[in-house]
Amino acid sequence: TRTPVNVTVTGAAGQIGYALLFRIASGQLLGADVPVRLRLLEITPALKAAEGTAMELDDCAFPLLQGIDISDDPNVAFDGANVALLVGARPRTKGMERGDLLEANGGIFKPQGKAINDHAADDIKVLVVGNPANTNALIAQAAAPDVPAERFTAMTRLDHNRALTQLAKKTGSTVADIKRLTIWGNHSATQYPDIFHATIAGKNAAEAVSDEKWLADDFIPTVAKRGAAIIEARGASSAASAANAAIDHVHTWVNGTADGDWTSMGIPSDGSYGVPEGLISSFPVTTKDGAYEIVQGLDINEFSRARIDASVRELAEEREAVRGLGLL
Ligand code: NDP
Repeated sequence: TRTPVNVTVTGAAGQIGYALLFRIASGQLLGADVPVRLRLLEITPALKAAEGTAMELDDCAFPLLQGIDISDDPNVAFDGANVALLVGARPRTKGMERGDLLEANGGIFKPQGKAINDHAADDIKVLVVGNPANTNALIAQAAAPDVPAERFTAMTRLDHNRALTQLAKKTGSTVADIKRLTIWGNHSATQYPDIFHATIAGKNAAEAVSDEKWLADDFIPTVAKRGAAIIEARGASSAASAANAAIDHVHTWVNGTADGDWTSMGIPSDGSYGVPEGLISSFPVTTKDGAYEIVQGLDINEFSRARIDASVRELAEEREAVRGLGLL
């Protein structure tokens, strides 16, 4: 029997946590042959709700689930963690300025980064889901100087998946036909879903669409504003699709991208494509054996350049703001 993999989930009692934990415990995160131990982190007032979720997990009798620990102490919850999904964050509430939001999240992600630094397993992989995800990931990463920076990632896979379906619908194809789509930049309204390198059943997607107006006025805003559209329709923010994307992100990171395809991940920039080093920005990446690499050598046309630059500018501003708050 294999040693269980320790998976820490923060904000475990929240909506996304509820949609996520059962899939992790059933083997969809790491594989049907990989036993897991869940470590749930919550703020003190939500511990009881987390216990309720743990009771339901018990009641599923998942053969792979080797144990559940619940804590409000990051030093306990990240102890021995191999995978950490940082979902809990301070949501923006009415009248809150961006600086207030970044400061509140600094108070969450800085201590969590330090706890990861001090207590996580050597092979720790971190995915930040809680918004502003890219900058929260940067705060956590900066607080963990002993962990290789590339282990801190931010989720843009939901944007990627949303873009796949929008493109499939427009072209009458299926998502399985589409490869090499890219989300660039920040997981925010400035993100840039890029179809210029994408293929649909082997043919260039931008040529197949051949409609720059649809691209600029329909596709890009639809993908970027999908979260708000879900809230409008459902009366609550997306949860199952966000959890699904978190599963996809980690599964792909661990198990690899398919030959000839790539995915999108928010990762610390090495300076590729003019993205300032250290910013956690979304790139096209291939993964293999638990590591990822940025896809190199793509031609970036003017249409794409302007949009990538705008999103990256926003990331740089967020970095300046958290620097100003002493969080880096
Ligand atoms: P959700 O589970 O719905 O969302 C959690 C976070 O994920 C939010 O920051 C949300 O950002 C973000 N997110 C990222 N992508 C998406 C997406 N596509 N759709 C929706 N959300 C997305 O929030 P809940 O309020 O239900 O639960 C949060 C839980 O976290 C609570 O139980 C709270 O107690 C806990 N928490 C735990 C902390 C800790 O463990 N230390 C710290 C802070 C909170 P956005 O707000 O922008 O939608």
